[in-house]
Amino acid sequence: MSHKLSQKNSLTKEHTQNYRQYFALNRNAAGFTIKKKELIYTLISDKSDGAFIWDIDNNKYIDLTMGFGSILFGHNYRPIRKEIENQLTKSWSVGPISSLAGILAEKITIATKTERVAFFNSGTEAIMVALRIAKAATKKNRIVFFKGAYHGTFDSLLTLKSDQETKIAKESIPGITQNILNESYFFEYGSDESLEFIKNNKDEIAAVLVEPVQSRNPSFQPIDFLKELRKITAQSDIALIFDEVITGFRIDIGGCQKKFDIQADIVTYGKVIGGGLPIGIVAGKSKFLDAIDGGFWQYGDESIPKAKATFVAGTFCHHPLAMATSLKTLEILNSTKGELLIEINMRTTNFCARMNAFFKEKFPKLSIVHFGSLFRFVTPGKYKELYHHLLLNGVYIWEGRNCFFSAAHSDDIIVLLEDKIKLSCNQLLENGIIKT
Ligand code: PMP
Repeated sequence: MSHKLSQKNSLTKEHTQNYRQYFALNRNAAGFTIKKKELIYTLISDKSDGAFIWDIDNNKYIDLTMGFGSILFGHNYRPIRKEIENQLTKSWSVGPISSLAGILAEKITIATKTERVAFFNSGTEAIMVALRIAKAATKKNRIVFFKGAYHGTFDSLLTLKSDQETKIAKESIPGITQNILNESYFFEYGSDESLEFIKNNKDEIAAVLVEPVQSRNPSFQPIDFLKELRKITAQSDIALIFDEVITGFRIDIGGCQKKFDIQADIVTYGKVIGGGLPIGIVAGKSKFLDAIDGGFWQYGDESIPKAKATFVAGTFCHHPLAMATSLKTLEILNSTKGELLIEINMRTTNFCARMNAFFKEKFPKLSIVHFGSLFRFVTPGKYKELYHHLLLNGVYIWEGRNCFFSAAHSDDIIVLLEDKIKLSCNQLLENGIIKT
């Protein structure tokens, strides 16, 4: 199998090797073991269309990575492409603010039932700012976050452990010091213990950060916990931050806030709303967003920015191309009144049900879990070899293993995908990698 894949991806491997010395890319060493060495590389691709990508060996794959969930309409979607081309004829410069930014801000407040919006370049930046404005507005300095969540690469959120007694985050990775973690409390997601702790330590907690449905564990949807968390944080002057970088504009136009009928104080978005271009959005209540600019005031009277502002900035924030593609994305979503998302979600639900029925009968240790159009294979032990077989059979799933359907994943393509998954499972058996 390793040999067959090496042959299939020979140009990808050659390219990777030629540039490894110059190009430091963690994905090129992800999951490294001596035994697997020949299979450790990331696909290199310069071409994509609809639900497909092609690698530089010109192999075609059904793409389940879909730009890590940033591509909702399909690759090279013509209306988005046209929008980029149209904007290019006007300007792609930063400096003055694009006239599209204010318009997009207003439209996002309407779509997400928030009061104010600020634009950045990535989900990580949005998270960093969300925490900063929560601390600024509450004048407190601790944050609570949860095991299993992924919030990007901001230092104080990079841990997998907390101290048993103090619940302070600890033992991170090289370069993340304990000092940086000392402001973070880290709990089991959905635990009663966390709720008790938040109540008892409200005077020092500025924010509770949740990924309402964690992309790494999408079948766990703790609505009652979230509702209780909303109640406690509201009573305690603690900012409830929903990280909707994946779920926003995907599970529903209004994200998990709408789906679960819970209004957070601050919400972060990214991925889908950018239409494939880099974006990070902080949205939420004026009480918190006012820490960015001092709040509302107007010309011609005595009004002034009243809130004490912190500092945020970024060369490429409000990039005109990203503003244009985001506006177009929202326009398309609004034009279908959310029906498009319902359809993609439904297709995913049906696909998962069919695959799970197949697994139950023939491969009971395998399953698929999903939330809306995000899904993950559950692959214990040797079953992880499934991903290499899928690659060999023309299905691309990135190293983090989150999979996404887009509007371009039509019923026909899904049927083809199901055949490829079944074939890959059978090969696992035939090749003696698994027993049942
Ligand atoms: N939050 C969540 C829930 C995410 O899934 C991600 C990225 N996958 C981020 C934040 C960070 O976003 P970015 O990669 O754009 O920095």
